[in-house]
Amino acid sequence: MKAYWNCTKEQLEEMFGFREKGLTEEEVERIRKETGENRLSEGRHKSLLQVFLSQFCDLMVIILIIAAIISMFSGNTESTIVIFLVLLMNAVLGTIQYRKAEKSLDSLKDLAAPAARVIRDGKRQEIASKEIVPGDYVILEAGDMIVADGRILRNYSLQVNEGSLTGESANVEKNEEVLPEEVPLADRKNMVFSGSFVTYGRAEVLVTATGMETELGKIAGLMNQTKERKTPLQISLDSFSKKLAILIMAICALVFCLGIYRKMPVIDAMMFAVALAVAAIPEALGSIVTIVQAMGSRRMAKEHAIVKELKAVESLGCVSVICSDKTGTLTQNKMHVEEVYLNGMTCKPDELTLESSLQRLFLYNAILNNDASITDGKVLGDPTESALLEMFHEVRLNQDRTENVGQLTIQEETIRNMIPRLEEIPFDSERKCMSSKYRLHGEEEIIFTKGAVDVLLNRCINVAYEEEIRPMDNVEIAKIQKQNQHFSENGLRVLAFACKKSGGELTVEKENGLTFLGLAAMADPPREESIQAVADAKRAGIRTVMITGDHKITAVAIAKRIGIYEEGDLALTGTELDACPEKELEEKIDKISVYARVSPEHKIRIVKAWQKKGNIVSMTGDGVNDAPALKQADIGVAMGITGTEVAKDAAAMILTDDNFATIIKAVTNGRNIYRNIKNAILFLLSGNMAGILSVLYTSLLGLPVPFAPVHLLFINLLTDSLPAIAIGVEPQDASLLEEKPRQASEGILSGETFRRIMLQGLCIAASTMAAFYIGNGKGAAMASTMAFATLTLARLFHGFNCRGNKTIFALGFTGNPYSILAFVSGSVLLGLVLFVPPLRGLFSVESLSCPAVIEIILLAALPTVVIQMVRGVRELKK
Ligand code: ATP
Repeated sequence: MKAYWNCTKEQLEEMFGFREKGLTEEEVERIRKETGENRLSEGRHKSLLQVFLSQFCDLMVIILIIAAIISMFSGNTESTIVIFLVLLMNAVLGTIQYRKAEKSLDSLKDLAAPAARVIRDGKRQEIASKEIVPGDYVILEAGDMIVADGRILRNYSLQVNEGSLTGESANVEKNEEVLPEEVPLADRKNMVFSGSFVTYGRAEVLVTATGMETELGKIAGLMNQTKERKTPLQISLDSFSKKLAILIMAICALVFCLGIYRKMPVIDAMMFAVALAVAAIPEALGSIVTIVQAMGSRRMAKEHAIVKELKAVESLGCVSVICSDKTGTLTQNKMHVEEVYLNGMTCKPDELTLESSLQRLFLYNAILNNDASITDGKVLGDPTESALLEMFHEVRLNQDRTENVGQLTIQEETIRNMIPRLEEIPFDSERKCMSSKYRLHGEEEIIFTKGAVDVLLNRCINVAYEEEIRPMDNVEIAKIQKQNQHFSENGLRVLAFACKKSGGELTVEKENGLTFLGLAAMADPPREESIQAVADAKRAGIRTVMITGDHKITAVAIAKRIGIYEEGDLALTGTELDACPEKELEEKIDKISVYARVSPEHKIRIVKAWQKKGNIVSMTGDGVNDAPALKQADIGVAMGITGTEVAKDAAAMILTDDNFATIIKAVTNGRNIYRNIKNAILFLLSGNMAGILSVLYTSLLGLPVPFAPVHLLFINLLTDSLPAIAIGVEPQDASLLEEKPRQASEGILSGETFRRIMLQGLCIAASTMAAFYIGNGKGAAMASTMAFATLTLARLFHGFNCRGNKTIFALGFTGNPYSILAFVSGSVLLGLVLFVPPLRGLFSVESLSCPAVIEIILLAALPTVVIQMVRGVRELKK
């Protein structure tokens, strides 16, 4: 790698053919062909063969292989072939599913990948990080993830966290000076590195390396990140499977011993044990859970919620508290300056002129001390600042006030070019203000400051009027506060403006001794859907709390309109929160529905206090300082549009529409996915239970073995998988919002679920045994055929029972067309096995007469009729 930190700007410009206008699209294409996309090649993905072989490293599969070998020794070679074929097919399907799930997670990751701001063809644009090429001109701002290595060309107080590279958690201050060649990575102050993030300030950077050529790429090349992350549900199912496997082996051994004790031939006793093992193993369970989770998260992404980790899909259903930002999430973030307060009076923006010196200073502050921009009629930047630019447009357009500079009509861009920014201290949500310095028309240097009213009032010593400057005394303070109160009570967001003539370096200390210019009051109406979403959340037992940097009175006014703040609730400011001891906060946290004027670090306290009370907390955030709170929350939610890349990186979920209502949709989806997975598990295990009970029953009574292993494999892997997937995609219904949030500690296999597995399994087993007895009259082979056909069909019918948790009539037959498709496909498969002679041979089934088929259908439908009737009676009682 070249020592770019040692090069002068001129040398760099020559090396990269750099221009202020950035690269052209043709140049980008050409460079990308040479360097490839800006991505780290991930050594994480297993090869296809590895995935395929890993399908056999499962205790359950090993039991099946043993079963196949035993079948072979018992002279049942067809069974052995079928078991191996089925295992092979299972491994192929498993591999395909694994790759599909991996792909869909990768595409979710791509959606969540950071974006970057570049100048290309002279235009500022936002592009996906993978599109960056060496030679690109990148603009970095606080909260950006740095996605390529680069050399700083212009530095505006940039501070960067390079912890992921150097292990140093403190911020590093950057500069643009040329450094000696022999400087270690951590001291290359004029460079930025991929994998770090901007905590403060701004910079313009020339990209010097991308992808694997970056410093991070070199480390990533050394690390082989093969670790797979499983969700709590997958982990608990894995441990359940292990316990189940041990239990199955113990029972199998018992059944085998029982057979030997009964003087059964060893091979027959073994066949019982094998049948039992195959009946009990839920082969499809693991893959069904993964499929349902992956499909669910894909659907959520379509509905504007990108869940970065499958783990979050599960936790979403447990969320009991949502702490939400106000601006942009609960409100529309379409700000508009309604009124301004200047010279002790209020007026509309279109009444302002550039002729009055006070109004000119106020307007210059609004457009110069402002980082938003309007390109091709599109506003880029913070909505608060965009509203100020639009306010300036009203001034110009409505009264056609044009200040003649030569022959030009004045635009904010012209003023900005005429009066360039000399220095700045960017806005941050802790200081709640921003300042920048200018030289106005050759006069002395002037600092413009704008920010929260209470913050600025403390820093002003004078008040500017048209004709005079007055000292900021109690009377003036009271006047401004009264006006601020009036604006805030109407739900308006108020910004104060001040200035000060001052030379020398601009520092935070200089943001004192200011002269107050005026106020701008902006409307940011609540999103209409927020009101419904808050009401839905309340019904669903979820508490919504507003956390905002805005003024308390504004926040409460908006919270009331949305339904978050009710009579008797409390609203706390950041300062009041600081003064509140831990114990007291925990005691009254249930009552506090609005936190105003808070800083990001307050958010962590709020999350922890709720969590201490056993809640699962979702917290929204957008700024760089929100990252710790987003990580602390159970579900950190970042804003996709206005959020910084750092916040998106720290969050578990990203809202691509920044909308509060999307969180509620995601929670409902999370609840639905969990319920569907639970139902799919109930379906699979109750079906297996029917098989186990049948084998145990016949073994205890010394009857012939009811199923060959192929029969049970056919059911478990083929006919049962279809309804299980259909259950997994059962659409949501209104009842999901009537339930209280699930307890995080509640396992998916609760006592109630076990009870249902046992009872429903017993019903199906009873029908199966009835069919077995009817067939037994015509010999063991017919008994086995009848039992197999009845068990298969009964489990296909049972698929309807496990949809949702209401009767089929209440859910509607057409509510989930996949369940009908699954039933029909399963029945066709069964029909093929029963009626196509070669398959009949392979499955060792007897040819069935017409009455026998009718008996099978009636017996198979019986458990579903009983279960539906019980459910109907229970619903009536409710
Ligand atoms: P939320 O936390 O709900 O998103 P917010 O946008 O009001 O609300 P912050 O962005 O932390 O929270 O802003 C806090 C306060 O700082 C605002 O109420 C406003 O008075 C002031 N402020 C906001 N944006 C700017 C800005 N660009 N320049 C100067 N002051 C600002």
